[in-house]
Amino acid sequence: MRSINKYDVVVVGGGAAGVAASVGAARAGAKTLLVERNPYLGGSATHAGVSSFCGFYTRGESPQQITGGVGNIVLDYLRREQADIEIYKTSIGNQIIQFESEDLKYLLDTMLQDEGVDILLHTHLIGCFTENGKIGRLHLMDDEGDYWVSAKCFVDASGDANLARFAGAPIRWGGEDQSAQFATLMMRIENIPEHFKLTPAIIQDAIEKAIAGGMQGFSKQTGLILKKTGKTSGIAILPSYKLNSLAASELTKAEQNTRKQARAYIEAFRTYIPQMKDCVMVLSGPRLGIRESRRIIGKEVLTGSQIIEAQKSDNAIGRGAWPSEAHNSESGLADYIFVKEGDYYHIPIGVLENETISNMWSAGRTISVDKVAYSSIRVMGTCFVTGHAAGVAAALSSSEKRSTIKSIQDELKRQGAFV
Ligand SMILES: Cc1cc2nc3c(=O)[nH]c(=O)nc-3n(C[C@H](O)[C@H](O)[C@H](O)COP(=O)(O)OP(=O)(O)OC[C@H]3O[C@@H](n4cnc5c(N)ncnc54)[C@H](O)[C@@H]3O)c2cc1C
Repeated sequence: MRSINKYDVVVVGGGAAGVAASVGAARAGAKTLLVERNPYLGGSATHAGVSSFCGFYTRGESPQQITGGVGNIVLDYLRREQADIEIYKTSIGNQIIQFESEDLKYLLDTMLQDEGVDILLHTHLIGCFTENGKIGRLHLMDDEGDYWVSAKCFVDASGDANLARFAGAPIRWGGEDQSAQFATLMMRIENIPEHFKLTPAIIQDAIEKAIAGGMQGFSKQTGLILKKTGKTSGIAILPSYKLNSLAASELTKAEQNTRKQARAYIEAFRTYIPQMKDCVMVLSGPRLGIRESRRIIGKEVLTGSQIIEAQKSDNAIGRGAWPSEAHNSESGLADYIFVKEGDYYHIPIGVLENETISNMWSAGRTISVDKVAYSSIRVMGTCFVTGHAAGVAAALSSSEKRSTIKSIQDELKRQGAFV
């Protein structure tokens, strides 16, 4: 069997968190490998069509940038390549950065190569070897078979806590009530008139008329279609499904069900919104977007009250400010609980660590938080923050020196992060 044995840090998952972890680790001097099962990086931003970064700024009149570090490097690449990005404020005062998933796919390849990170796409983590509370090596698979990669430290940026699960770290499904928010299949729709403002009220009216007219199969009665200024295409956030597990049988049902819904929504828009009579769906997904699945129960749990009160911590590794945005209801829109206006909360290192495995850090949407806090930390701006910190912590711990919170904070600041 093939075996590779030359890394300080291996990062599992190439979404926002994994990209940030890999660059953070490499910039801290670690020989770093990123493994990703998809054919490209970006995770939900590319493979699930989520093409707006939230969580880079505080909310309110004078937004303050709170995601620096690797998140900022990603923005620099997008700007330098003159990618199609637009930063705007929503009606509830949140700052959003819209981009094109195709731009991001290409730019992340370039960026990680520039940063000296080794990448293996088309590579599935299928298990790991753990001894004395440490992961020794990862069991990986590609289409030529399975093999092992060993390293000193690891980052779980798999979105679904897949490494933590294989390693035997404590994990749970969803929040305290063990239920997860709706998963949603993104739809790219074209032929929307350039200056047509497609509000949730217009969408709701069309769906209600469609239901009254006998059409079936809508999970949400309204939702958002995000459209850049002056464009004729938009991303609809509508067909949704409540997942109970990540078993292939459950995901198959969910993918098939939401694909069917997508066609029903298009039919409703064509029939009941005159400006949309020629609209077409040019892309779904590619895969169902999973908002919430498994996460670790860490050394610390960041709570809803801590984020709402904008609590600060001496053990901080970064900042978050996006409101708690939960997608639990069938009405279609999210329920928001806001962080103190103009302020941010601290994310302590303990929410990336667990008591069982000492050489693995969790990142992105797999970190240790309660239900309310989860709905804030899951956005990509904040995933860049926790990924960056996890990569730096893993890199420093893989070197001879013992890492401390002070050394992690110093290195993050040296790399441009806001701690
Ligand atoms: C419908 C929807 C709308 C959203 N809207 C927004 C929004 O507008 N703005 C925003 O900022 N956030 C939004 N979010 C949230 C955000 O997209 C995610 O929470 C965030 O992207 C998670 O990043 P991550 O890096 O933690 O995980 P992911 O992006 O899920 O990346 C994890 C990566 O790990 C890989 N992986 C998993 N298991 C394995 C394995 N065994 N082997 C190898 N690779 C593996 C996956 O293929 C994936 O690429 C939305 C989410 C959804 C679902």
